[in-house]
Amino acid sequence: MGIYSRIAKSLPLQCCIVCAEPSFHVVCQSCANEFSITAKRCLSCALPLNQSLEYCGNCLRTSPSFHSAFTLYDYEGVVAYLIKKMKYDARLSVAQFFAEKVSEKIDDMQSSGHHYDVIIPMPLHKKRLRERGYNQVVELLKTLDKKMPIDTRSVQRVKSTVPLTDLSLAQRKKEIKGAFSLAEPLTHKRILLVDDVMTSGSSLNELATTILKQSPAVVCCDALTLSRAHLIESQT
Ligand SMILES: [Zn+2]
Ligand SMILES: [Zn+2]
Repeated sequence: MGIYSRIAKSLPLQCCIVCAEPSFHVVCQSCANEFSITAKRCLSCALPLNQSLEYCGNCLRTSPSFHSAFTLYDYEGVVAYLIKKMKYDARLSVAQFFAEKVSEKIDDMQSSGHHYDVIIPMPLHKKRLRERGYNQVVELLKTLDKKMPIDTRSVQRVKSTVPLTDLSLAQRKKEIKGAFSLAEPLTHKRILLVDDVMTSGSSLNELATTILKQSPAVVCCDALTLSRAHLIESQT
C-alpha cells in the first residue's frame, strides 16, 4: 500500500451528524460519550430508579403485560436528537450505528441468562410504512439477522393510531387498544419485543397483551428499547 493510500485509510471520511467534526462513524466518539445511560432501572419497565429500589411505583401498582424491560439509553439530549433523525429524516446511517449497539446489548443480555427464540420488532401500520418507506425498528435489528430469527410477519398493526406523544396516559391506552393482530398463535416460548423509544410503555404493553392472550405457548415476553423516556407528571 502506497503512502497516500495509507494516509487516506487513516483519515475520517465523514462528518459527525451531531457536531459536524470529522469522524470515522456517523456519530463521533465525543458525541457518543454524551449519551445518557442510567445504570439502575425498574426491573419491570426500565424506568430510571433510585439505587435502593427494584421496581417503580407504577409497576408496583399495576405491572405491565411484558415480563421485563431493558433499554440502552435515556431518551434525552444527543440520543433523542439522533432517534428523531433516524425516524423522521430518513437517516438510516444512524439506524446502522445504533444497530451495532443493540446487537451488543442483546449479547450482554444473553450472557446474563436472557435467551430468546425470536425477536418481534414493533410493527408499523402499512400506511405509516408507506409514508416513511422503512420501519426504523427493523433497521435497528439488521445486524442481528443471522444471530436470531426476526419475525416481521406474525403480528400486524391493524389500527392506524395518531402519534401518542401528546396524549395523556389514559388517552394513549385508549388509542392503542386493539392496534395489533396476530395471524395465528405464536409457537415460540421466549419472545423479545423491540422498539426504538418507550415512554409510557402503552404500545409495548398492548403488543405483549395481544401476543400473550392468543399464544399459550409463550412463557416469556420481554421488551428491549433503544431508549427510555422519563414520564412527565401529567402523563402518569
Ligand atoms: Zn460529534
Ligand atoms: Zn416500572
